[in-house]
Amino acid sequence: MTHRITVAGIPVDTRHWIGGRRVASPDTFTDVSPIDGTPLAEISRGGATEAEAAVAAARDAFPAWAATPHAERARVLHAIADGVEKRLEDLAAVETADNGALLRSHRRGVMPRVAHNFRFFADWLLTLDREHEDFTTRGHTNHITWDPAGPCALIAPWNAPLMLATWKVAPALAAGNTVVLKPAEWSPLTASLLADIAAEAGLPPGVFNVLQGYGAEAGGALVSHPGVRRISFTGSVPTAGRIARAAADHLTPLSLELGGKSPLLVFADADLDLAVDLAVEQYDNAGQVCLAATRLLVESSVAEEFTRRFTAKAAALVQGDPRDEATDIGPVIHARQLEKIDGFVRRALDAGARAIVGGGPHTGLGGLHYRPTLLTDVAQDSEIVQEEVFGPVLTLQTFDTEDEAVTLANDTRFGLAATLATGDRERADRVADRLVAGTVWVNCFFVRDLQAPFGGSRSSGIGREGGTWSFDFYCDLKNTVTAPRGWQSH
Ligand code: NAD
Repeated sequence: MTHRITVAGIPVDTRHWIGGRRVASPDTFTDVSPIDGTPLAEISRGGATEAEAAVAAARDAFPAWAATPHAERARVLHAIADGVEKRLEDLAAVETADNGALLRSHRRGVMPRVAHNFRFFADWLLTLDREHEDFTTRGHTNHITWDPAGPCALIAPWNAPLMLATWKVAPALAAGNTVVLKPAEWSPLTASLLADIAAEAGLPPGVFNVLQGYGAEAGGALVSHPGVRRISFTGSVPTAGRIARAAADHLTPLSLELGGKSPLLVFADADLDLAVDLAVEQYDNAGQVCLAATRLLVESSVAEEFTRRFTAKAAALVQGDPRDEATDIGPVIHARQLEKIDGFVRRALDAGARAIVGGGPHTGLGGLHYRPTLLTDVAQDSEIVQEEVFGPVLTLQTFDTEDEAVTLANDTRFGLAATLATGDRERADRVADRLVAGTVWVNCFFVRDLQAPFGGSRSSGIGREGGTWSFDFYCDLKNTVTAPRGWQSH
């Protein structure tokens, strides 16, 4: 079997990347493009044996990488960012073929952000040395150091594969750790390209490893390995539970970035066009965005006008091939995801919901296209309001008072993000204060600085990453307290 195939004209290796070498498994799984259902590649299907080899490679490479001076680590990470920028078009084309998200977004937003992930954490690493001066306690010096933790298991989802993978890989490597990345089985390709880029940038063998395979087999073997010192996972709540149980056996510290059911609160005093733009933006990536504000909560007095403008804007969205510049919404990732989305909508309609916009697959386009959908007449305790759909499906509810808006907004088990549209600054402060969410956006959406803490409350996750918080997670902090006395005089 050939292990080097081409996708969108770009050569991609379908094997694992372990200890600076390509390693094949006897079994493979088929990676299919959501654009037209064509099989793209037969990918090595890893399990316990390959997980063992990857962790061993990461363990062997750890001491030297951990001891590499910060400036040198930063230099290599910048070289990886250079490589990402050089191969930006390749990465964008392969990612679109693999997960169906818009090529134009990959080119202009996502892949530049991948490079930025490496540059940001490379630069932040250098600030660690400066910012934490020693301090003294009754003459004793406290000297704080961020010691690299060891091999890290990094598990990524398919909705923004390389962006979310490198949001973990970059800080983990910057901190002096070695990593094993397990990409999602529905989007395995760009992780393989990243291995090529990292090797060309001079990252030593074994510092970065890629383990391909299914979640339970490859991922499960990885997260239950006693040699893993950190687990960072982005994905669904049920998987997080399995990983947390596996991590418990070895008390492996873990960071979990999970799903959401975030609200967008639109107050009557908001710039209504801005509010409508924010709402329509929730259909980006066919709604397969953890942060998406899928519950529109609109003040009753403006609900009719909001709905009129929203409907007109949503109708103008172009669905189709994600490689076309004019397309606003591409296919969803997989036939199983389409079925799942449609199941949520069918059950909501059966329970009495009304579709103001959309309400089913876009059969005219064939394939995996789902119509952008807005459902109203939904009960607060219904499945469609409480559970994450992970597709282009929003609900609309109204409120009459600020208190009611906050109560509805906070009334799910999630707490990833919340967005509010208001023209009243004091209201913005008051409401933001009361919302349960890791990130609150006021009159904006998806603005994310890497130095800010990122993560979710309640079932949306455990822990925060970003800036200092990433280094706190990926390191063992140590305080060395030294007495002013006891020294031998020379
Ligand atoms: P998923 O949980 O099915 O899979 C995520 C990853 O975990 C995949 O790589 C999968 O192979 C792996 N996995 C599955 N079972 C495993 C196991 N037992 N042990 C180890 N690894 C295992 O999630 P998904 O469907 O790929 O992603 C969608 C979910 O991710 C949504 O819920 C979404 O909200 C969430 N998400 C969260 C964020 C965030 O930052 N909070 C970002 C993007 C996506």
